[in-house]
Amino acid sequence: MSGADTMTRPAVLILLGPPGAGKGTQARMLQDRFGLVQLSTGDLLRAAVAAGTEAGLAAKSVMAAGGLVSDDIVLAILKDRLAAADTQQGVILDGFPRTTVQAQALDELLAQSGQRINAAISLDVDDAEMVVRVAGRYACGDCCEGYHDSYKMPAVAGTCDKCGSTNMQRRADDNAATVGQRLMAYHAQTAPLITYYEKQGTLQRINAMGEIGQVAEELGAIVKKAVA
Ligand code: ADP
Ligand code: AMP
Repeated sequence: MSGADTMTRPAVLILLGPPGAGKGTQARMLQDRFGLVQLSTGDLLRAAVAAGTEAGLAAKSVMAAGGLVSDDIVLAILKDRLAAADTQQGVILDGFPRTTVQAQALDELLAQSGQRINAAISLDVDDAEMVVRVAGRYACGDCCEGYHDSYKMPAVAGTCDKCGSTNMQRRADDNAATVGQRLMAYHAQTAPLITYYEKQGTLQRINAMGEIGQVAEELGAIVKKAVA
């Protein structure tokens, strides 16, 4: 592919990994570093639930139980978001795709606009670590900066480092009851995408058991090459 081709095509990066792997944390850092737009289907679905839209109403109980929302709903929400102008800067898909149907639909959607996946990067963590990361997660309700009870604490307890807000929030689905369901959904429906992208030739894997900064360094090097 020529340099000109590359320049006219917005980059598409996928972050794969179980809940709590660090996809959102890393996507926000990549957004700041590379000017790409983080696109989290979890965030989009939570916004739809909060707004009480038809899709949100249908998704609410599934999300609360730790299951996967239907492909139809997720794809409709994603297509809407991808149609917005800011995605022309390039996107980091965080938490999407989560099923083979979603992955195939994404390939078709991108092909229609002459785009392609630059890299699908799997953040590998073991199940025990995933449970610890999810259990301790909270975030700033205003700027969305993420924190953790023991791994990433703000300089002043309860105050966001980034925007100074004291509106810290925990997700309703980050509880012991749903975590097992979410892990099962990951292994049954999302982990097969590792093979899907391996066959496609776009897969990269990172050991995401290390510290946030260490993972960011490794991921940044992969992304730099993938979007060059
Ligand atoms: P995901 O988006 O994959 O569900 P998050 O990015 O929200 O995961 O991370 C889950 C929790 O783990 C957050 O509280 C975050 O601060 C913390 N975290 C993320 N990456 C790491 C890491 N490499 N080491 C320790 N804690 C991490
Ligand atoms: P997340 O914020 O990525 O942890 O997602 C929170 C919840 O939203 C998940 O447990 C699912 O119920 C739902 N969800 C997010 N993304 C998807 C997706 N691509 N496909 C199906 N369900 C999703």
